[in-house]
Amino acid sequence: KCHNELVRLKGNIRVFGRVRPITKEDGEGPEAVSAVTFDADDDAVLHLLHKGKQVSFELDKVFPPQASQEEVFQEVQALVTSCIDGYNVCIFAYGQTGAGKTYTMEGTSTNPGINQRALQLLFSEVRSKAADWDYAISVSVAEIYNEALRDLLGKEPQEKLEIKLCPDGSGQLYVPGLTEFSVQSVEDINKVFEFGHVNRVTECTNLNEHSSRSHALLIITVRGLDRSTGLRTTGKLNLVDLAGSERVGRSGAEGSRLREAQYINRSLSALGDVIYALRSRQGHVPFRNSKLTYLLQDSLSGDSKTLMMVQVSPAEKNSSETLCSLKFAERVR
Ligand code: ADP
Ligand code: MG
Repeated sequence: KCHNELVRLKGNIRVFGRVRPITKEDGEGPEAVSAVTFDADDDAVLHLLHKGKQVSFELDKVFPPQASQEEVFQEVQALVTSCIDGYNVCIFAYGQTGAGKTYTMEGTSTNPGINQRALQLLFSEVRSKAADWDYAISVSVAEIYNEALRDLLGKEPQEKLEIKLCPDGSGQLYVPGLTEFSVQSVEDINKVFEFGHVNRVTECTNLNEHSSRSHALLIITVRGLDRSTGLRTTGKLNLVDLAGSERVGRSGAEGSRLREAQYINRSLSALGDVIYALRSRQGHVPFRNSKLTYLLQDSLSGDSKTLMMVQVSPAEKNSSETLCSLKFAERVR
């Protein structure tokens, strides 16, 4: 058991599921009965009732509706702190709109999610590290909408940014012009988040709608310097609230709505393809098929660590989308 636990923890790609509670919008009465059920003795399995049939899925771990933000964070904190040791990490929230992606990543003011808890933990870990090491933590906030990358902390948030190869021949990628704010405290990060939100809202009239159609990225960089030896480390933690995975294109969308849907479908399947290729150790990994995977190439390949949090609605009316999300989860696992 111990060994298996270790393998599970040290593996590069993990897939978790999180099921949100039933809400009023799911309906009252019989339709409010959960289509998702769990096993009492196995926290990696969930069952979905879809069109009268039960389909079972095994992931690396499943969080039922009553799982708290703390419990979820406990399972991801080892990943978070590994970026202090120079690892690159990606945590994605995947799922249809309304399934709880933003709740898991951002959370609420009284119940913060992974983003805020990760920064808090990094601050406190860095403070308690060996005296020889100096650390600097900085953050970037970006968005990918219709395959255009925008800097939400920049002076020109409308400007589209390009992803370029570092001129030093290292093969590393970078984004010229992407703002990096140095942060030292929880107050600093609150300011950064507010700023990022303001930039996102001014662009559009309906933030909720817009945010469900774009990928939101919080990129945390931790740079370490060992003062006695001069050794340097850089680790990146990429926290990504993905665009909604619902298949809009199939329900008669037109014009800009259809275009948005096509961009989203393409970039989410590109992400699935990349993780699948990495997991099955295929020689060719198609990073370049989307802005998201190209941008995150350094943080998905090599000894990087990836967590896919597949968010699920328990509502029966959502069971087709839930089935798709869980199939996506199973494929990349
Ligand atoms: P998404 O970002 O995937 O569109 P949200 O995170 O906005 O979905 O979640 C939809 C609604 O459900 C929000 O009102 C959110 O607060 C609530 N919600 C989601 N997950 C949970 C949870 N685990 N516990 C309590 N409320 C949740
Ligand atoms: Mg959201």
